[in-house]
Amino acid sequence: MSKTDLRPALSRMLPYTPGEQPPPGKFIKLNTNENPYPPPPSVVSAIRDAASGPLNRYPDPTASLFRRAAAEVLGLPGPDWILAGNGSDEILTILVRGFVGEGQKLRLPYPSYILYRTLADIQGASWEQIPFLDGWHLPAMFGEGGNDLRLVLLPNPNSPSGTVVPAEQIEQLAATLPCPLVVDEAYVDFADFNCLDLVRRHDNILVTRTLSKSYGLAGIRFGFLVAQPSLVAKLSNIKDSYNCDYLATVAATAAIRSQDWLKDVVTKMNATRSRMQSQLTDMGFNVTPSHANFVWCQHPSGRHADLHQFLKKQQVLIRYMDFPDWGDGLRISVGTDQQSDACMMMIERFLQSL
Ligand SMILES: *Cc1c(COP(=O)(O)O)cnc(C)c1O
Repeated sequence: MSKTDLRPALSRMLPYTPGEQPPPGKFIKLNTNENPYPPPPSVVSAIRDAASGPLNRYPDPTASLFRRAAAEVLGLPGPDWILAGNGSDEILTILVRGFVGEGQKLRLPYPSYILYRTLADIQGASWEQIPFLDGWHLPAMFGEGGNDLRLVLLPNPNSPSGTVVPAEQIEQLAATLPCPLVVDEAYVDFADFNCLDLVRRHDNILVTRTLSKSYGLAGIRFGFLVAQPSLVAKLSNIKDSYNCDYLATVAATAAIRSQDWLKDVVTKMNATRSRMQSQLTDMGFNVTPSHANFVWCQHPSGRHADLHQFLKKQQVLIRYMDFPDWGDGLRISVGTDQQSDACMMMIERFLQSL
């Protein structure tokens, strides 16, 4: 035991490794599901105006400006249904901190967002991965659990698959679970339904959202939770006092008010996604139909790691993912048509060399 040892529970933790962030400009970057397009112009001018704002003052601790706008835009009863955070990753941290104590357990499907496991580890809690069935369906037991199960997290659309669990099934799962069910809707703007309505009807269904993907603001760090007001109030007590800075709050507010921009960008990106899916299929990949801004694919050659390396040498970054006891594959983010075509051309070149 040394003077600088961290808590014993942390010595066993699996650190979360985010996708590579190389210096801008060098790579075609299709590895972390960012938006290839810049954010709405109104966001840029809002940030510019805010730069001459009250930066010497602490920001509004609850980002009311954003919460009012988001409640209006999303058709929620009021801002008290929203908790704003420094990215939805912080919202997830607050949820795990609030619900899952030492010796307790959270659940996630497998394969899905590995960060949830790290958050459990940090708490000294445990996690349980329930494998998806064939076709990315969830088994009924995903909705069962004892008293030690304190939180269930479900990315919907899921990453890396881009698949969705239907809202009806989410509702059924929440009804049988002994704890909250968090529907992580990081990619929901690229899908054709969401679970906001369920939050109004069920106090144990919670939705998280982010501005990092569909709104093109990964660099800003802003996400939020939608839950019933009594829960939002309780969770608000355990967040950092000033978790959303002034510039981020102003930017996020302008972004959430840019619904026409969002619709155009999503239409454009979903069209690129369709093209990618058919190009990959034509090249012999097994492609999982996606409801998100990325595509999960596997090639019969099994040469996923090599293909990833080959592309990297050609300045194209995609994500190679290997899930123990499950298998590996490639997750390719939707870029512009031009970026996507360049990537597809490189993939074709690699396959021809086999
Ligand atoms: C990207 C992502 C997030 C993180 O969003 P931030 O708001 O950037 O922290 C959360 N959940 C899933 C499933 C994601 O892929």
